[in-house]
Amino acid sequence: MELYTPETLISEEEIIQRIDALGKAITQNFEGQDLIVICVLKGAFMFCSDLIKRINLPLKLEFISLSSYGDSTQSSGSVRLEMDITANIEGKNVLIVEDIVDSGLTIKILMEIMSVRKPKEVRLASLLFKPSKLKHPVRIDYLGFEIEDKFVIGYGLDYAGRYRELPYIGVLNAGN
Ligand code: 5GP
Repeated sequence: MELYTPETLISEEEIIQRIDALGKAITQNFEGQDLIVICVLKGAFMFCSDLIKRINLPLKLEFISLSSYGDSTQSSGSVRLEMDITANIEGKNVLIVEDIVDSGLTIKILMEIMSVRKPKEVRLASLLFKPSKLKHPVRIDYLGFEIEDKFVIGYGLDYAGRYRELPYIGVLNAGN
């Protein structure tokens, strides 16, 4: 039985329009260079897929998976590396593609993991950012949208494993 009805917060059209702009900015910033794009699973898969179609550079795609402990709508205090990339990033330009920066802990840990591998440069693209929840300062080089402190789903983001397939970003309203 369905308990929640998603309500649109950011439409598919708005998302794609913004990703167009991000793709152009990334293409310009890394002009004439190669790029290793690291998609942070699972939440960033849809954003990453639409973003790389708009990056006009020679690139390689890698996947990484981190898990944070805690309940399903609150970030917890610890992060574990579940699946690593396979590429050697030493001396390479790296673009990390994340779904959302909330407390900033996941990205902080990920940046630490990457920096010991001596890349040339690491930049971050995040579709969403909740500034009100930030505890660990991070620099988001390519940001889709700043949002209020609401639990969002869709466009790759889940609630208890569901809703990732929605083409828009939504919020869940209980009892509808
Ligand atoms: P942080 O470590 O920045 O606190 O949390 C980042 C991770 O928490 C994201 O990659 C995402 O998996 C999860 N997260 C944070 N806020 C939300 C949200 O509003 N909706 C969903 N579905 N996941 C979120």
